[in-house]
Amino acid sequence: THSWDREAIQLVQTLIPKETVLFIADAKISFDSFRNGMTASVNSKTIITVNPGKISQRHLHKHSLSYNLDSITDVYTVSQVKQKTQENPEVFFGITYGFISKLDLDSSVSKVIKTRCSRCKFQVTEDKQSCTNLLCPGRDQALASSTGFDLLVDITDHTGTLHSCALRSPVAEQTLGCTVKEFTSLTDDERTAMKWKFLLERCKIHVKVLQLLVLCRVGLILACSVADPGEVKQHMSALLQRL
Ligand SMILES: [Zn+2]
Repeated sequence: THSWDREAIQLVQTLIPKETVLFIADAKISFDSFRNGMTASVNSKTIITVNPGKISQRHLHKHSLSYNLDSITDVYTVSQVKQKTQENPEVFFGITYGFISKLDLDSSVSKVIKTRCSRCKFQVTEDKQSCTNLLCPGRDQALASSTGFDLLVDITDHTGTLHSCALRSPVAEQTLGCTVKEFTSLTDDERTAMKWKFLLERCKIHVKVLQLLVLCRVGLILACSVADPGEVKQHMSALLQRL
């Protein structure tokens, strides 16, 4: 599976049903006798345009950029992240010092841990024979799935809130300091305690942000740990000086 496929599927997954129009050019269309319908598959030449006419296509070619955590050094406030994504609809990486203001670790386990197709990362149920995603590059094959943390969290600082940023495995394991298996054996009280450990602390959060259209911003957390207070002070005073 090319990383592009995974990115494309993740992109499609995050779109808002019924509110988003997709224009897909150069996809391979074929008749699938098993599903008795037409299917589309994507490759590196495929261009998916979200709400055609509203945004540039440039980001689609850029958003598969690989990253290295050490190379991410630019620090932004939440409002600067929002401003940057609106001005420049391309993927970018940055660090924000904020609080995790929404972290539903104490809701049902099915909301915290999800099973996804290993090929396209689409959410599936393990009882299925094959992936149910029409764009999956491995739809014809037996389902290969993996189960991991899959959370949407909010990041808040003094300038605002970034809603629904994805915190997934393996970053979530590192952040929470616990494996999926360990998490499933925690009591409700232990899960609540884990949640509050983050809600009360300012964290250093590495993010990858992609603006798909005016109302749809996709944030992916690449790393998150409780921030060193001295480091926070240093960056906060630098941010204030720039104002
Ligand atoms: Zn799939």
